[in-house]
Amino acid sequence: MTAIRPLVAGNWKMNGLSPSLAELRALKAHVKRKPVPSADLMVCPPATLLARASDVLVGSGIALGAQDCHPLRSGAHTGDISAEMLADCGATAVIVGHSERRTDHGEIDALVNAKARAAHRAGLTAIICVGETEKDRHDSATLDVVARQLEGSVPQGSEATNTVIAYEPVWAIGTGLTPTPADIAEVHGFVRAELGRLIGEEGARQLRILYGGSVKPANACEILSVEDVNGALVGGASLRADDLYAILSTYCGRTA
Ligand code: PEP
Repeated sequence: MTAIRPLVAGNWKMNGLSPSLAELRALKAHVKRKPVPSADLMVCPPATLLARASDVLVGSGIALGAQDCHPLRSGAHTGDISAEMLADCGATAVIVGHSERRTDHGEIDALVNAKARAAHRAGLTAIICVGETEKDRHDSATLDVVARQLEGSVPQGSEATNTVIAYEPVWAIGTGLTPTPADIAEVHGFVRAELGRLIGEEGARQLRILYGGSVKPANACEILSVEDVNGALVGGASLRADDLYAILSTYCGRTA
């Protein structure tokens, strides 16, 4: 079996104005000065910066992702952005089902599934987020919740070339709290087993499962060394090029 190539993806959320493009230039310079050949790097800025970010990142090897898409190709949906439009801006991936969208916009698994299908239709990688709330964990319902989200959100046709799963415990996002390595290992192993049931063992073995939730340079090494963790989805720490590159650098000297 070939090893899974890890991915570190930065989610800028609703942060970033024109001056933030300087962080992308700095990131590009870091990667040029000291490449990390054993891992992939992606940045997901807000939609307003996608086209300009795409220009900045040309030739850098850093992929560009978006944070959400509408399920349909085009039409009367004021304010929405289709997966095809994101691809047209230079994006190669889109995050769907982030817990902030599930909470702020009431997104349910069926909608996340439709968005992931839209991503596939447009040739984008769907980064599908799942994860339990603090109450779910307290109620020992983590695996049930994650199983339900995977079953509802991962469309048929998902495979390693078009899909990434991000396990993001809601209570760990932006809080500085993280699960123990053993807890992360348990959920990631469970996610891979569930994917085996949903998309087949072979596909599941190759698919990247990212951990997300308060990943920082200081804890990246411990978290990214956990079994079945194939990279990270990074929020707050991705806003600074130095921090995102430091997290990526965890893979320096490792072979994929
Ligand atoms: C996220 O929102 O995807 C995330 C992981 O955020 P943070 O790293 O800030 O916890």
